[in-house]
Amino acid sequence: MSLHLYNSLTRRLEAFEPLDAACPTMYVCGPTVYNYVHIGNARPYVVFGVLASLLRRRYGAVRYVRNITDVDDKINNAAREQGVPISAITDRFAAAFRDDMAALGAVAPDAEPAVTAHIPQIITMIERLIESGHAYAAENHVLFSVNSFDGYGKLSRRDVDEMIAGARIDVAPYKRDSGDFVLWKPSTDDLPGWDSPWGRGRPGWHIECSAMAEAHLGETIDIHAGGVDLQFPHHENEIAQSECAHGGKVFARYWLHNGMLNFGGAKMSKSLGNIEKIHDLVAQHPPEALRYALLSAHYRQPLEWSDAVIEQCVRTLDRLYGTLRDLAHIAVEPRIPFRLEEALDDDLNTPQALMIVNALASNARGVLSRAAADDQKTIDELANLKADLLGAGLALGLLQQSPAEWFARGADSSDDARIAALVEERTAAKKSRDFARADAIRDQLAAEGVLLEDTAAGVRWRRA
Ligand code: AMP
Ligand code: ZN
Repeated sequence: MSLHLYNSLTRRLEAFEPLDAACPTMYVCGPTVYNYVHIGNARPYVVFGVLASLLRRRYGAVRYVRNITDVDDKINNAAREQGVPISAITDRFAAAFRDDMAALGAVAPDAEPAVTAHIPQIITMIERLIESGHAYAAENHVLFSVNSFDGYGKLSRRDVDEMIAGARIDVAPYKRDSGDFVLWKPSTDDLPGWDSPWGRGRPGWHIECSAMAEAHLGETIDIHAGGVDLQFPHHENEIAQSECAHGGKVFARYWLHNGMLNFGGAKMSKSLGNIEKIHDLVAQHPPEALRYALLSAHYRQPLEWSDAVIEQCVRTLDRLYGTLRDLAHIAVEPRIPFRLEEALDDDLNTPQALMIVNALASNARGVLSRAAADDQKTIDELANLKADLLGAGLALGLLQQSPAEWFARGADSSDDARIAALVEERTAAKKSRDFARADAIRDQLAAEGVLLEDTAAGVRWRRA
């Protein structure tokens, strides 16, 4: 089997064939940098990072672009609240985002364009859309006219008339149709803005990705990816802008969308407040276990996040690294097993890939427990299993530390601080009657072998 990907545009599993086999192209919508990102945000970058490295392996090269949205009303609000220029916010959180992604082993993009560095390209694209009758200026805004593009709605399979009817409430007076969306909007003096033919202003969100994809990957790209929450309106609007600016040329040939990571039964999102920041999680858990957890569900399925899931992944990695420690005397080069490539070829079936990883380790443990370690046949068998195990890990961005490094965690005093912080958090949760959280913390600590005792002086903890 060759690489097959589920294309949201056609709603079919399709064989992947790049436009240029010397270098497939991929664009993944990046974060808006006004705060630390949460673990749900990492899902697209971890799973599509696995795809980027697969493409690099297969084709010898890939051009993977992931943007940084560094102009946005949420950024403006954060800057105003803190009394700093927006660059103080965006520089800080773009750097934090890169640190978080590196901690999770998310493959770095080949280019990381920032919106503020692409204002001329954005203005040019908007001008082209106006000239070709797909956009119009009104009251210092520029709007895209959805009725001018027959293909509008083809990705999300929405009907334009229904969309327009559904959006009748509070329609801005300068819109010809309620479904029209903003390409450019005016900025007051206190807001970031750039000179343009329509006055001082700033770009709308959707046009940024169209302009940056064109600047870095050309008019037609192979793969465009992001979370399913971006399918409408963001990706639908990207298609409309790019295809109309390019005389109808296909914008992206394969659209990939990851399912949502849920926490406490709802999509993890800043607006709901049910978030776990990667910045905090990596201080409490081995980052590799977080990565393992993100790969444990198929990327198109929802993923239910919990402390129990993380702990389960820590235990699994303990077992895998334990096996590698038992194989430390055997020197091999990693070799990616064919079965693992087959699993990834099947629309990035990472749960299947992880089953293969665990089966390899359990085979190796079986051999170790049965056979005399010095017989040559056994050594060859173990060498093969270890090469496959390390290779499978390599393809998934796992098992790349030494067993000693993995097991060194928790041995230092920072683990005591982490446990103390969790105990404190549990006490606070109980006080605020959040018993579910309090119980989850107790269970997590129990699973780590930490026992809690309620005493008159407060809660004490000790290792079992
Ligand atoms: P944003 O900064 O909100 O545009 O999000 C950045 C990326 O994270 C986008 O690709 C989103 O689709 C994705 N994303 C946001 N929330 C979640 C979630 N709860 N689960 C999975 N992906 C998410
Ligand atoms: Zn985008």
